[in-house]
Amino acid sequence: MKENVLIDTHAHLTDEKFAQDKEKIITNAMGNGLVGIINMGDTMQSSKACVSLASEYKICYAGIGVHPEEAYDMHDDDFDSIIKMSKNNKVVCIGEIGLDYYWEKDQEKRALQKRIFVQQLAIAKQLNLPVCVHNREAHRDTLEIIKNEGKGVQGVMHCFSGSMEMARELLKLDWYIGVDGPLTFKNAAKLPEIVKEFPLDRILVETDCPYMAPVPMRGKRNEPAFVKFVAEKLAELKGLSFETVAEKTTANARALYRKLNAV
Ligand SMILES: [Zn+2]
Repeated sequence: MKENVLIDTHAHLTDEKFAQDKEKIITNAMGNGLVGIINMGDTMQSSKACVSLASEYKICYAGIGVHPEEAYDMHDDDFDSIIKMSKNNKVVCIGEIGLDYYWEKDQEKRALQKRIFVQQLAIAKQLNLPVCVHNREAHRDTLEIIKNEGKGVQGVMHCFSGSMEMARELLKLDWYIGVDGPLTFKNAAKLPEIVKEFPLDRILVETDCPYMAPVPMRGKRNEPAFVKFVAEKLAELKGLSFETVAEKTTANARALYRKLNAV
């Protein structure tokens, strides 16, 4: 139906939920107009898996990094491994990294999350790579770290859940916001209003699959092909055609993730 080009800028096809039918899922994504799927690592192991998936499938690219909830057993040599892996021409960013205070209430562990986040930002800066940031109920600390330790690093606040004020702060820093399934939910709260006001050239579409499938697939296993439902909702909110939104958000992904253009 749609011949437009879309990129799912945040997926987890290395998740065990895709272990049985990855091939079919990727074929379905291509059949739905996708030209790129960026799989994000959340552990050292999944980062490696994202890189090998990218070498196996032309449409796949990789983010490498360690998620805050997985950050506690990171070793010094893991940072060296990230640097080595980043040389692969299909590794487009350091991600997903960040802070998660929803699941972590312990202050010492939160401090450790911050340290690991800062160290991975430093790697991104050193490598001149953008970052994909996960932030759950840690808006203030995340923004502060991006502004200070992350100065000069460009990135996206994936699955944006912050306020309009936070969105404006990110805009000042030349950052992007990523929108996914929750934008289509009835209880999306303030997100639709933020998206209406936020410039389209700073928005990326993503699925974060296998979780958070957009309406009309809500509750099912999510997959990259469903990114079209996110783009449709975005088009509706912006009063633009699906084609325009598909084209622009893909251009945005290519502007942020410059290595997408190199392969
Ligand atoms: Zn994710």
